[in-house]
Amino acid sequence: MTAPLGVAVIGAGRMGADHVRRIQEVVSGARVTAVVDVDADRAEAVAAPVDGCTAHTDPAAAMAVADVDAVLIASPGPAHEEALLAAFAHDLPVLCEKPLTPDPASALRVLEAEQALGRRRVQVGFMRRYDPEYTRLRAVLETGRLGRPLMLHNRHRNVASASFFTSSMLISDSVAHEADVTRWLFGHEITAVTVLRPTPSSAAPEGLLDPQFVVFETAGGALSDVEIFVNCQFGYEVQAEAVCERGTARIGAGHGLLTSTEGRWGGAIPQDWTERFADAYDRQLQAWVDATRRGEVTGPSTWDGYAAAAVCAAGVRALHEGRRVEVELAERPALYG
Ligand code: NAD
Repeated sequence: MTAPLGVAVIGAGRMGADHVRRIQEVVSGARVTAVVDVDADRAEAVAAPVDGCTAHTDPAAAMAVADVDAVLIASPGPAHEEALLAAFAHDLPVLCEKPLTPDPASALRVLEAEQALGRRRVQVGFMRRYDPEYTRLRAVLETGRLGRPLMLHNRHRNVASASFFTSSMLISDSVAHEADVTRWLFGHEITAVTVLRPTPSSAAPEGLLDPQFVVFETAGGALSDVEIFVNCQFGYEVQAEAVCERGTARIGAGHGLLTSTEGRWGGAIPQDWTERFADAYDRQLQAWVDATRRGEVTGPSTWDGYAAAAVCAAGVRALHEGRRVEVELAERPALYG
């Protein structure tokens, strides 16, 4: 493919609008040719500054536009299944923001629909796999220099949760990322989830179980634990430490620019994911554009999206039932290696 990839962006909210900016200003080899939002004014506002870009309220209508070669889905999770199936019907490759879909049953339907096509069409937006620190951590583990990984300690903290955030969403919306990195770093499926619930922070909205402590068991025998704390008030922090037989490897300390002045040294803590993972979003999108232009599909697959949904479903049950819950996973189809 020599012409730039024409992309329809579905969902023009925070992530969608940022992806439009990224395609237009950061990524090479692509341009935004259509923007879709159920809110017509929002679609129009995001599409208007982009030369030759049309605005729509119906995803399927946008996919039928002549210069749309690929689809980026950034609508809310419950809208993903319909958009994915429409993209399959139009034979268009997709970058789908996480979650693939909000629950394992719908993720399985997407998995089956993709298998019926006989080839991969979807890259799921688990952008941490493109973060320079996470990729270095994986590379170190893969050398075997530190020995076999035994445990992964994860910390995931947000300044404050959105008003609509529920206790279940700490798992399904936030810990979904750790479910994916655990599977990706260890190369094993997660088999069971336990969730412990400390007394909630007084800064958490009434009724929100925040923080939570999540433990994943993996098929390889390694454990991965996650402190998820979405009203920590001071910043957005994502950290991980892999503990191996002969050493540890950790990321996320955030030592960017440090200043020393007036008897103190210090630096800034990012306030949200768009800042902390800016590089990762750029690299993810460039990798998708490059692969798509080569006629390939790479990166986190529909299977990865389904597996994360299955882990999160087990996690939400573990949270509410106060017990260890095993992950129910379908057999991995040959299409996903
Ligand atoms: P948002 O609420 O800011 O934006 C969503 C937009 O989609 C809104 O403009 C809404 O009007 C529109 N919309 C709703 N239903 C639609 C439909 N059926 N078709 C088209 N448009 C529709 O949400 P957001 O924060 O931008 O999140 C969007 C997606 O990105 C979600 O799946 C979310 O989980 C994901 N996300 C990923 C990360 C990450 O780190 N990878 C971070 C934040 C959000």
